[in-house]
Amino acid sequence: MNAPSDTAPSPAAPSTLHPQINADLHCHSTVSDGTLAPEALAARAKANGVELWALTDHDEVGGQQRAMAAAKAAGLPYLTGAEISVTFAGKVVHIVGLGFDHDDPRIVEGLRATRGGRGARAKEMSDGLAQVGIPGAYEGALKFAGNPELISRTHFARFLVESGQCSDVPEVFRRFLTEGKPGYVPHRWAALGDAVGWIVDAGGLAVIAHPGRYGFTPTEEYALITEFIAHGGRGIEVVTGSHTAADMIQYTDTALEFDLLASRGSDFHSPEESRVDVGKLDQHLSGRLKPVWGALEHRIHWPD
Ligand code: AMP
Ligand code: MN
Ligand code: MN
Ligand code: MN
Repeated sequence: MNAPSDTAPSPAAPSTLHPQINADLHCHSTVSDGTLAPEALAARAKANGVELWALTDHDEVGGQQRAMAAAKAAGLPYLTGAEISVTFAGKVVHIVGLGFDHDDPRIVEGLRATRGGRGARAKEMSDGLAQVGIPGAYEGALKFAGNPELISRTHFARFLVESGQCSDVPEVFRRFLTEGKPGYVPHRWAALGDAVGWIVDAGGLAVIAHPGRYGFTPTEEYALITEFIAHGGRGIEVVTGSHTAADMIQYTDTALEFDLLASRGSDFHSPEESRVDVGKLDQHLSGRLKPVWGALEHRIHWPD
């Protein structure tokens, strides 16, 4: 018979990896379109009870070193992350990468190229807004961008709220920043196979972000999932800030049907704007699902 000390869990691993931990594997800092610095976000995640954290800035790994150091200082297990903008079937799809080597030259270069068109797109957005009587939006948005390489629609939205054009960010998106509206400029992002390939080649796991948000037909969604899997993608977000209870049930079934690993993340951007705070999702993954963290144990940066 084993002595109790032989069967006790090691200080780090097993208890942090069961399916119902408070994992938050999707959020944004000032390195993309969040309003908190990576250090402030790490502290907030810890204070809110997060047990496994990933910072997933849009198209950017410039915050990874800072997030990792801050997570370590806060005693928070950490996975590297990024949320890559992809064009699929004429729509924007987001692919979250987790647990990759953030120094891998293929993902670093791929993300640099993906960010590349944002400056010119922002100037075109600004021209469109000027035509409807809103001048200076490029300069205005840039003031909100913590990272000038990552100027996004969110920064334009914050500028339009500050300048009194709209009362909140969702109103700006509805009136100005979505397809057919004056500040909307279509853009070609990364190809699905490239984004998944960069993540997988860098040792990470690729996850379809917030599938409930795309408005795909069942046929389009089937194409997305099967192509994603064919390229080496393995995960799907089931519990996320923008999913309704019905979405979570639907994508639990989808994960089981396609044998995908399930992920969980708030998609937190800002204390003032986000519906769900980091670490404050009120649903856990169903016990029927296999969580992404079960396949990423070797990629977790454990605190001392
Ligand atoms: P971009 O990558 O520049 O196209 O900006 C996309 C970002 O805009 C997303 O990551 C969200 O943070 C934000 N966003 C998109 N749609 C909405 C919306 N309807 N309301 C508020 N924020 C939105
Ligand atoms: Mn965003
Ligand atoms: Mn997204
Ligand atoms: Mn996001």
